[in-house]
Amino acid sequence: MSEPQVFPERIVRCPACGKDSVYAPRNPYRPFCSARCKGIDLGAWASENFRVPTEAPPDEAPFDDPKLQ
Ligand SMILES: [Zn+2]
Repeated sequence: MSEPQVFPERIVRCPACGKDSVYAPRNPYRPFCSARCKGIDLGAWASENFRVPTEAPPDEAPFDDPKLQ
C-alpha cells in the first residue's frame, strides 16, 4: 500500500463572501475562496484606513453665498 502524500484539506468559511473555501496549499487565497474575495477584503481595509471625513464638498464653496445670509 503506497498512497501519495496528501495534505489534509479543510473547508472553512470565506471571510469575504461567507461561502465554503478550501483551506489547503492548493488554494493560495486561503482563507478566502478566491482572489476576488481576497481583494475585496484588502480593499475594504484600505478604504476604511484612508477615508478622510470631509465636512463639505470641495468644489462647492459655502462662503460668500448671499442666500445663506
Ligand atoms: Zn469568497
